[in-house]
Amino acid sequence: MELYMLYGMFSTPAMEKGKAIHYKMEVKEHVPLTVEPKTPSDRFYKTLYENYVNLGILLEKGKCREIKIYGSINGFKVVGQIDELRIEGGKTMVVEDKTKNGENSGNIRMLQDSLQVMLYRKVLDDLVCGSFSYDNFANSYRIYDSKLSREFYDGLKSQGMKEGSMTIDGISKLLFERLKSLPEVAETLELRYFDRKDNSLLSTINIKYDNDYLNKELKHLMGYWSGSREASPVPEAEKWKCKWCRFFGNKCTVWYNK
Ligand code: SF4
Repeated sequence: MELYMLYGMFSTPAMEKGKAIHYKMEVKEHVPLTVEPKTPSDRFYKTLYENYVNLGILLEKGKCREIKIYGSINGFKVVGQIDELRIEGGKTMVVEDKTKNGENSGNIRMLQDSLQVMLYRKVLDDLVCGSFSYDNFANSYRIYDSKLSREFYDGLKSQGMKEGSMTIDGISKLLFERLKSLPEVAETLELRYFDRKDNSLLSTINIKYDNDYLNKELKHLMGYWSGSREASPVPEAEKWKCKWCRFFGNKCTVWYNK
């Protein structure tokens, strides 16, 4: 992963298939904004608006999909997308969907997925508790400088949007208010594995949020981003991953021919 940040991202066919499955699940419950964004600011507005609408669905129906979250971890700006949120037993539950080939997932994969869903839980919890507030978000994304295109703004108007909600600042305030109105975030997290071939559910695993474990892992991972350590290769137990890695045998030879 760390080398991808140096040399750029790319998608494998398996990743594309996984994305298609996520998209199919999302559109089932998605309420679209019909105005076409013209600029990056318009697109940013659209994402914030859709988050706001989705959280409304969560509060009303107890479930929503594809929520973008923004936060800060040890001073680093982080963005993620939670696959599903549900309100269960009076708490907000984070659900992460993964696709894979067949029944075997392996412990290593599970550990990584658990770490990801714990991180999502932490970022969401910061938003719900207000420790990452609207002001933090506004400063971090410099939203005061963002302006919508005239066409997009007119489109929003013709869709009947209210005056105060037709700016990035306005929709952000509404979104952050709504986030703070969510029930407490549950410590139990759900991981679901779907078969890449036919999208059938293979397994559902509940894991417990572990703040100490997450902090320890984040400290190690952030070491790379803060420049205090070099990118590290996968451990031997995970060298099967190298088979799918574009750097195998050229930029990275750690496990090549071993
Ligand atoms: S070849 Fe293996 S160890 Fe090297 S970057 Fe890729 S996954 Fe990591």
